Parts: sequence; C-alpha cells; structure tokens
Amino acid sequence: MAIGDFHLHSTASDGVHSPAWVVERAAANGVRVLSLTDHDTTAGLPEAAAAAARLGVRLIPGVEVSTDLGPADVHLLGYGFDPAAPKLQEFFRWQQEGRRARLDKILAILREHGMPLDARRVLEIAGEATVGRPHVARALVERGYVASVQEAFDRWLGNGKPADVNREKLAPAEAIAMIHEHGGVVFIAHPIYIGTNYPEAIGQLRAWGADGIETYYKHYPPETIALHEQYSYEFGLARSGGSDYHGLGNPDDREIGDIPFPDEEVERFVAFIEERCACSAMEVRS
Ligand code: AMP
Ligand code: ZN
Ligand code: FE
Ligand code: FE
Repeated sequence: MAIGDFHLHSTASDGVHSPAWVVERAAANGVRVLSLTDHDTTAGLPEAAAAAARLGVRLIPGVEVSTDLGPADVHLLGYGFDPAAPKLQEFFRWQQEGRRARLDKILAILREHGMPLDARRVLEIAGEATVGRPHVARALVERGYVASVQEAFDRWLGNGKPADVNREKLAPAEAIAMIHEHGGVVFIAHPIYIGTNYPEAIGQLRAWGADGIETYYKHYPPETIALHEQYSYEFGLARSGGSDYHGLGNPDDREIGDIPFPDEEVERFVAFIEERCACSAMEVRS
C-alpha cells in the first residue's frame, strides 16, 4: 500500500462513495496524504477536508478536468490551486451545464437503440454530482439493458462508441493556464488513454505548461511505470500517482492506496506541491 493517492473520485462527481468515506477508507488503508480529484468540481473538498482533519491525514486540493486535443480526450489533474477562486468556480459551472446538456443527447441515442432511460432517474443516481457517463452506465445496468458498468462502456458509452457524445471543453493549453492562474499545478492524467499521437501529445502538453505526469497509476505494470519515468526525465515533468478510485467495481479497479507508488516518490510529489502551489493543504472552515 502507498502512503499517498492523488487521483480519487467521490459522489461529488461519478464516484460511488461520499468524500468523507473516501478519506476514511484511504486513512484506514494507511494513506497519509491524498487528493480528491472529482471531475469538474471541488464541491466534495470541504467534506473531505473535515474528514481529513478528524483523521489526521493531509488533503491537497484537487480536480480532474477533461480537455479536447483534436479527437483525443485528455484528462488533466489540477492540484494546489485556490478552490475559492470565483473564475475557477465559474468554469466548473460551465462544464457542469455542458454535462447536463450532453446527458439529453446520450439518452436520445440510447432511445434510438431501444434502451429508453428516464433522465430524472439518471440525475437521481447522480444526486448532487456533476453528471457523467458512469451514472448513465449504472442506469443501463439497473434497467437490465447491460449486465455491468463495464459492458455499458464497452458497447455504448466508451470513447468512440455509439452513445459517446462530445461536450464543449477547453483546449489543454487553456485549462493549464487557468489552473496556473489560480496558483495550482497540472499533471497529465493516465497518459496512455490519450491514444492517438501518444507520446507526442506529452511533449505538446509540456510545451503548453503541464508540470507533471501521472506515472504510478492504478494497475500499471513495472514496464509501463519505467516508460513513464523515462518520459518524466525526457520532458522535465514531475511525477504523481493515483488509483483513480471510483468504487464502481470495474475489472481493473484498485483499492484506494493500492498503487505502485514508492514512498520517496510520494514525498517528492508533496515537496513539489509545497514549493509551487498557492494552497498545498485544504483549510477546514468551522
Ligand atoms: P465523463 O466524465 O462523463 O466523460 O466520464 C468519464 C468517466 O467514465 C471516467 O472517469 C471513467 O470513470 C469512466 N470511463 C470512461 N471510459 C471508460 C471505459 N472505457 N470503461 C470504463 N469506464 C470508463
Ligand atoms: Zn470518473
Ligand atoms: Fe480520467
Ligand atoms: Fe479520474
């Protein structure tokens, strides 16, 4: 088990468990420092920060932002920014509206394929969260149209599948600039999923200001980690690690903290955040 995990999702976006639950589970697994990185929202951070303070673990502000790089869907992890910045919150609201509009388009396609779903039910599953494809996947399972969340993605919702609908996003350079503007740093999430033009995309993202690369990810085998370490040296990028925990029970899911992230690399990452960021630990407001 690693002592740090910097890629975690909660019910604030498309994770299954509450922010407090995620922090409690992390602490129980021996994680000492973590970041909650919900999609396009920081709404889970206050609850996570309260749990972290109670349990004596450290929470670094985080978020995961999806961007468009040509046909590729590039995910960026922002850390250490000021979560209260109004311009940042305005951006998150805009992304959430785009997600809501996309939902109707996804449901229209699924209806055409004989799988009608009630938008209200999907939004109920999402609750307070920014609505995402995993919520639709869970609704498909619930109605018995598919057997599992994974099957929903493999057949319908995954990138390039019939019900994968694009939504308006920032270009990577814009998202990187915005996180920087608010005191944060940007790491390239699960770079292998970039697909096309990989690893050229890494060089491009570096040129646009990306600070680091997610090297110690989830199920990466040693050779994949070695490759990412190589990229980090080649492009001058810092290294992070995370489980991308959603609690969905997909085949390649990892438990929180169950990642190949050496302690000295966790410490190096935290030192990097402390040196570079405006907000390297969440404050708890009482
Ligand atoms: P969204 O933010 O709504 O575009 O959905 C992205 C989320 O869907 C990711 O964070 C994953 O949790 C999930 N996801 C995307 N592609 C797949 C896939 N092929 N298999 C399983 N889950 C996926
Ligand atoms: Zn997700
Ligand atoms: Fe992602
Ligand atoms: Fe993620």
